[in-house]
Amino acid sequence: MYLISACLLGENCKYDGGNNLTDWVLAFAEKHSFMPVCPEVAGGLSVPRHPCEIRENASDCATTVVNDIGEDVTDAFFLGAEETLRAAQKEARARGEKIEGAILKKNSPSCGSGSVYDGTFSHTIVGGDGIFVRRLREIGIPVWHEERKDYLL
Ligand code: SF4
Repeated sequence: MYLISACLLGENCKYDGGNNLTDWVLAFAEKHSFMPVCPEVAGGLSVPRHPCEIRENASDCATTVVNDIGEDVTDAFFLGAEETLRAAQKEARARGEKIEGAILKKNSPSCGSGSVYDGTFSHTIVGGDGIFVRRLREIGIPVWHEERKDYLL
């Protein structure tokens, strides 16, 4: 079973109420066992919502997530990551499958893999993973994004 960002499948769960429908991801989903996920909605955030970015504090190694009006939404992001992983593991068990990997939206503070926005809301990308992806990597689940399908096809 694969986990796929719901917004890549056309679900309007993006911060602005839209989606990130990606044709090849939809085609992949038609041929594979999958579960759509949206960790931010699972963490209790609304649609639409203020855009959020991760901030890393080098001095104390603390990770926080804030939105563009300065609210701290860290708890919602970590809760959403845990709840999504728990639901995915439960679903995989029910199907008698393992979680093979995840195809998740690039640059998102939850779903981004390898690159995320830097926390300044200036459209600046830095290396790093979203909060949900960090959790998946901890347990060895491979992650791809919509522009990195080389290992999947
Ligand atoms: S990138 Fe992830 S958290 Fe953001 S809308 Fe898409 S599925 Fe939800």
